[in-house]
Amino acid sequence: MIPRMPTNSDLLARSLSAVWHPCTQMKRHETLPLVPIARGEGAWLYDADGKRYLDTVSSWWVNLFGHCNPRINAALTDQLGKLEHVMLAGFTHEPVVQLSERLRDLVPTGLGHCFYGSDGASATEIALKMSAHYWRNSGKPEKTQFISLQNSYHGETLGALSVTDVALFRDAYGALIKQNATVPSPDWREANTGESAENFAQRCADSLEAHLQQHHADLAAFIVEPLVQGAAGMAMYHPVYLKRARELCSQYEVHLIADEIAVGMGRTGTLFACEQANIRPDFLLLSKGITGGYLPLSIVMTTDDIYRAFYADETARGFLHSHSYTGNPLACRAALATLDIFAQDDVLNANRDKAAFFNRIAQPLRDHPKVKNFRNTGMIWAFEADTPHTDFAQRCFSFGLQHELLLRPMGNTVYFMPPYIIGKDEMQLLVTRTLNIIDALT
Ligand SMILES: *Cc1c(COP(=O)(O)O)cnc(C)c1O
Repeated sequence: MIPRMPTNSDLLARSLSAVWHPCTQMKRHETLPLVPIARGEGAWLYDADGKRYLDTVSSWWVNLFGHCNPRINAALTDQLGKLEHVMLAGFTHEPVVQLSERLRDLVPTGLGHCFYGSDGASATEIALKMSAHYWRNSGKPEKTQFISLQNSYHGETLGALSVTDVALFRDAYGALIKQNATVPSPDWREANTGESAENFAQRCADSLEAHLQQHHADLAAFIVEPLVQGAAGMAMYHPVYLKRARELCSQYEVHLIADEIAVGMGRTGTLFACEQANIRPDFLLLSKGITGGYLPLSIVMTTDDIYRAFYADETARGFLHSHSYTGNPLACRAALATLDIFAQDDVLNANRDKAAFFNRIAQPLRDHPKVKNFRNTGMIWAFEADTPHTDFAQRCFSFGLQHELLLRPMGNTVYFMPPYIIGKDEMQLLVTRTLNIIDALT
């Protein structure tokens, strides 16, 4: 057979016949074409015909330093020549040890133990199980309930869905999911007129306190997305909420799980979002950007106190959880290369300048009469479009593609979460074209 150059339409038809795409009503693709990507470079994705798209959402919030990053590529190539994988039960290897040591030195002090999973949802599962198992090992087996914020998102496996408050993802599986309570979200869009984000966060912390007071005896943990609730539509809130949550959880003997899967690795302006509240959670969850968007990897970091509660002669007191690819050396090497880039390029400072520049040039968007709640935390921007279109998200997505932008709105919320290597020209292009799209769709 003569090899053919793949064409876009070829790939689309084959994909629709063989691949069941995630988070998608597949029938939509009768009218909405898939986007066939052939390669990536920097902040850009290219299809088989050479058409390009600016990856303004970092490919679902994972890509930090661009596609086909030469430094991460080199690290992976080197690792491929040494060890691609070995099981982590009973074995160890340099990349997993180095990564655990380096993270221990970077996260809030006291989170000295790294447990590895494969994706974000598995990190949530691990933290929930570890928390409840800790209480069981500590003579409090009744502490088995969890709480999360309204509109929370912590992944979509069954345990993670039990602390995820997104009806669309949950409702079909209600009978399979454990019932956990939610507490009011400090999302400042919900504040009363004239009420500051800080005062509103305090008021929500009062609700959390009331809940803890009443239910702490049954509660294992409170899981929270620090500073920004991503899937809620980039809901942002004041760090005082986290400070209060930390104090209250300690007071009522409930673990605090910080899900930094989306907000960790510099996304909110500090390496970890918890730093902005100056708190140390009992569990810190990392995934998404940890490998620079290269390979699936997740990490649950926890304290000596929790680790020791499992350390015993009896096997059953141990944490007998595993995934086949736990601590995969390639994924760990990608994560180490990602940490190297943070250090070598002084990324956090560079991002502060980038964010300031973007906020300046985005002023016309902020001032646009059809743009509501324009907001920014670190390298995340979001706003609501005041639009008559009930299918705004889909229209904006399609319109974006026609203008070289990968935009993926959630309902009427448009957000930008670009790779950190985005340049000034690219930022300007993003603002100008988004303005055109908003003009056309509002
Ligand atoms: C994406 C995400 C998850 C789930 O991660 P997956 O890798 O998609 O399973 C969990 N929590 C938060 C805050 C996320 O953004």
